[in-house]
Amino acid sequence: MKTITQIDNEYVAHTYKRFPVEIVSGKGSVLYGSDGKRYIDLGSGIGVTAFGIADDTWNNAVIEQLGKVQHTSNLYYTEPCARLAMMLCERTGMKRVFFSNSGAEANECAIKVARKYAFDKKGITEPVILTLVNSFHGRTHTTLAATGQEVFHKHFQPLTPGFVHLPVGDIDALTEAVKNHPVAGILIECVQGEGGVNKLPCDYVAAIKAICETEDILLMVDEVQTGNGRCGTLYAYMQYGITPDVVSTAKGLGGGLPIGATLLADKVKDTLGYSDHGSTFGGNPIAAAGACSIIKRLDEDFLAEVKQKSDYLFETFQNAKGIKAVSGMGLMIGLETEKPASEVLAACMEKGVLCLTAKTKLRLLPALNIPMDILKEAVSVILDACQ
Ligand SMILES: *Cc1c(COP(=O)(O)O)cnc(C)c1O
Repeated sequence: MKTITQIDNEYVAHTYKRFPVEIVSGKGSVLYGSDGKRYIDLGSGIGVTAFGIADDTWNNAVIEQLGKVQHTSNLYYTEPCARLAMMLCERTGMKRVFFSNSGAEANECAIKVARKYAFDKKGITEPVILTLVNSFHGRTHTTLAATGQEVFHKHFQPLTPGFVHLPVGDIDALTEAVKNHPVAGILIECVQGEGGVNKLPCDYVAAIKAICETEDILLMVDEVQTGNGRCGTLYAYMQYGITPDVVSTAKGLGGGLPIGATLLADKVKDTLGYSDHGSTFGGNPIAAAGACSIIKRLDEDFLAEVKQKSDYLFETFQNAKGIKAVSGMGLMIGLETEKPASEVLAACMEKGVLCLTAKTKLRLLPALNIPMDILKEAVSVILDACQ
């Protein structure tokens, strides 16, 4: 008899380097392996299971919708999709939402909006979108082009044209790029996730916002990882005192089911019209019902708890032995460890704590509702592993 590991290795494409752990069940922030081993989950399926595994509220929302209708296509109206769009707009001041199924798709939509807006407003036919070095925007061909990391581009040329990557924090390079290219939009992550949990400086984001306003360029914020409470506010941009023209999000929004959303400000709410864009699965009622339950729970009281847990983590890790630096925001945390991060991750896994890495850092994305006692238990394992 083949094990699940053997079957997977034989039949699933080898694009992922999996750890030797088969997860079979869980509750909240605790997972169980096929060997019965208990793990504390500090990765949340890469920031997806915002309220942990098999969360009762989310489960009930999804199951209730599952008993009604699971899919209709976008030819018809369904309640969860409409309500989710309204909730997202009311909470952000954005005016409309396009739903898709992933972060990459949410960014694809943002890019299409920017290109069409530039044509409609300025007649630009070969628009350029500026993104940042070390950014990550997805794996489709166009979002790969947007991603400012050469390592992902190798072997997949030619990429979609029309992207220029700027070094983070370099305001002169930003000004030059806007002068030299027909720029349609600037796409940023407030905290670069895959790029190493690097928070963008406030003055740099303010400079981007200013140039976008004077030049009528769209400011687009990729909140796929940072969004939906992850950074301690509903969206991370809210801590930068800016209002984007486009916000893309996914990951934690669905709580475990695939959903992407592209939020459109007043200026671009009608840029895409009938047949300009679409998605068969986008706005799926089950995924949307789950997402509604998540957004509803991300109120001020809950976000204050996220911030408290974040403060606890920053305070504990700053000046801890074996940790050189702590970065990030909210419950999106990067640890520059003295030992290689992969070594720390392996030691934590051995002791029953699942972490992530990002570039050279150990990355933590715990469920937003992780109980304090479980969080503390995991932290002591990390501290030990870092020494
Ligand atoms: C994960 C991620 C994406 C891609 O999301 P997928 O759902 O994997 O397509 C895009 N942008 C950022 C910032 C991400 O963290």
